[in-house]
Amino acid sequence: MIDVMLKSGKEKSLLRRHPWVYDTAVKRVSGQPASGETVRVVANDGRFLAYGAFSPKSTLRVRCWSFREGDVIDAAWFEKKIRDAVEAREPLRERATALRLIFGEADGLPGLIVDQYGDFLVTQFQSAGAEAHRELIADLLMKVTGARGIFDRSDAATRRREGLEVRSEHLRGEEPPEAIEVVEDGVRYGVDVRVGHKTGFYVDQRESRLTAQKLAEDFRRRHGRGLRALNCFCYTGGFSLALLKGGAAAVVSVDSSKEALDMAAANAARNGFEEERAKFVCADVFEYLRTLRDAGETFDLVILDPPKFASSHYHVDRASRAYKDINLNGLRLLTPGGHLFTFSCSGAIDVDLFQKIVAGAVFDAGVDAWAVGRFGGGADHPLLMTYPEGEYLKGLHLLVRP
Ligand code: SAH
Repeated sequence: MIDVMLKSGKEKSLLRRHPWVYDTAVKRVSGQPASGETVRVVANDGRFLAYGAFSPKSTLRVRCWSFREGDVIDAAWFEKKIRDAVEAREPLRERATALRLIFGEADGLPGLIVDQYGDFLVTQFQSAGAEAHRELIADLLMKVTGARGIFDRSDAATRRREGLEVRSEHLRGEEPPEAIEVVEDGVRYGVDVRVGHKTGFYVDQRESRLTAQKLAEDFRRRHGRGLRALNCFCYTGGFSLALLKGGAAAVVSVDSSKEALDMAAANAARNGFEEERAKFVCADVFEYLRTLRDAGETFDLVILDPPKFASSHYHVDRASRAYKDINLNGLRLLTPGGHLFTFSCSGAIDVDLFQKIVAGAVFDAGVDAWAVGRFGGGADHPLLMTYPEGEYLKGLHLLVRP
């Protein structure tokens, strides 16, 4: 096996079991490993640190599979990792048929994402190491989960940084239907795994959607009328359907994508929700929030779940202004006692910064607000404590004080 020796002092993060080795940390490579080949990472004094996958083109030169010298990174090793990951998601199966089975680094499988939708799996091989073991991983996934088929959505831009082509194709077993129906907390959703965002659905918002559903239920109980909500960046209707399920009186769902809105409307019909309760608007949220304000509209709940505004650290300033803008204009539409669910999925904007941005919006809106809850990915998107980069999704539940 080829050795990758680190510069003196660069072993520290690996000793803390953080799985990445940057190109700048490498002193010497004892050969020419192929893309994704398993290498031994050693410290400057020669002592063993980890086994990992070599990526000749990426600034993340090695992503570690294991910090145990006795491990052998073979088929049995991958099978155990996959079984452990699948097993950990078992408790969620009572609630949902859409689950993230494998969450990359958090599951000790850097760059590998596997989502389950009913009987089908969708994969993303986002690192040279995951890619090099693609056929083996696909076979093991079929064996371990008993899935009917696998579709590969390895079309994320992150692959280019690894020198890999983007790809979207049927990988194993049966071809998935055009829309796979999944059920989550009693709500049915159609998922298009071929062209949908990410792998087709925002599996990571399960807990927030349940909170929305419960808020709608609770609101009706306490106020004797249904909640009126505005769901911005609604995509295929995730939060909207949860709110309608909870008994919301009216939900206005906004997105700039006509295809996403069509699917959201189809999802509402799929659940038999009355058309009068659900309105779908094709618009730019930044503009539409202003239109609503000019029209004097108000809501009991506003949800802001935008796409990733900051794709890297270079975009943090511009993204911060965009978050501030929608949060300020969202807050202005709330009645006293109203709720704001606000999210950021930009990894480059951490929890502290996001809180500061939202606090700025609260101040500028001239209201007082409490954060009565915090949101993040569910138990199938665990935060590995030695890998803080895994925490990309954060959100706040604000309550506007009278
Ligand atoms: N909340 C959704 C996921 C949101 S994804 C869920 O839980 O499923 C982000 C969505 O924002 C996408 O559907 C995209 O079409 C939409 N979008 C991006 N920019 C927009 C804009 N300026 N105005 C309206 N929608 C926008």
